[in-house]
Amino acid sequence: MTTWIIHHEAILRLGAFAVMLGLLTVGELLTPRRPLTASKAVRWYSNLGLVFVNSLTLRWSFPILAVGFASLAQERQWGLFNNIAAPTAVRIIASLLVLDCAIYLQHVMFHAVPLLWRLHRMHHTDLDYDLTTGLRFHPVEIMLSMGIKIGVVAVLGPPAVAVVLFEIILNLTAMFNHSNIMLPLHVDRMLRWFLVTPDMHRVHHSVIHKESDSNFGFSVPWWDYLFGTYRAQPQQGHADMTIGLKEFRDPKYLHLVWLFVQPFLRAEKSITTK
Ligand SMILES: [Zn+2]
Ligand SMILES: [Zn+2]
Repeated sequence: MTTWIIHHEAILRLGAFAVMLGLLTVGELLTPRRPLTASKAVRWYSNLGLVFVNSLTLRWSFPILAVGFASLAQERQWGLFNNIAAPTAVRIIASLLVLDCAIYLQHVMFHAVPLLWRLHRMHHTDLDYDLTTGLRFHPVEIMLSMGIKIGVVAVLGPPAVAVVLFEIILNLTAMFNHSNIMLPLHVDRMLRWFLVTPDMHRVHHSVIHKESDSNFGFSVPWWDYLFGTYRAQPQQGHADMTIGLKEFRDPKYLHLVWLFVQPFLRAEKSITTK
């Protein structure tokens, strides 16, 4: 089973992505959480265009990606889990948790270090919040993130199948928790025991700084609970809160070409161009 998953990685990832995209698109149309304010056509071509650019960037810039590196580490006996005896299921679950915690810490770091924030803030300049916001990351951030993931794989030595599962889960949960879907409040409350919900992550996209400095998790909410970065709700409420960054309100910045140069834009100048 595990070898089958590794051999069919590409089709599994693409299939899971397409199914989730379809389900959430319909969900957002049927039961939207908030009305959208910017052009959906512009946002979708930009955000989905980035998915295409980022996939090619990773393929062309890295000789080997995290899954391939995990297979190599397994062959060469590199990393912790390749040198200790533990049942496969334990190694897979532990690897999923460590990788998810690493992504949480990386997200905190991208907010805290000014140079990294310049790259990551592009994710936050979306003026609306829907499933495509979860796919909106600068290509350089995607490359750095892959480098960090490969570093974690080198130290941890996770089973390659765990890395495939991790990538699929992260992609699916990122789309889900950015979606503009109205979940019944009791369902949201229940899901928050083990999953980051759209209402939980939306707080992270607030223009209010103390709110965007909370809820960093993408898949499980436990790291935010554990490290004290959890904030239950936005102070203005979900319907009235403003999404994005105060410094970049001009809709022209939603176009794909502006997304690439976002890290080089000066915030003060952007306010005056509105
Ligand atoms: Zn962020
Ligand atoms: Zn986000």
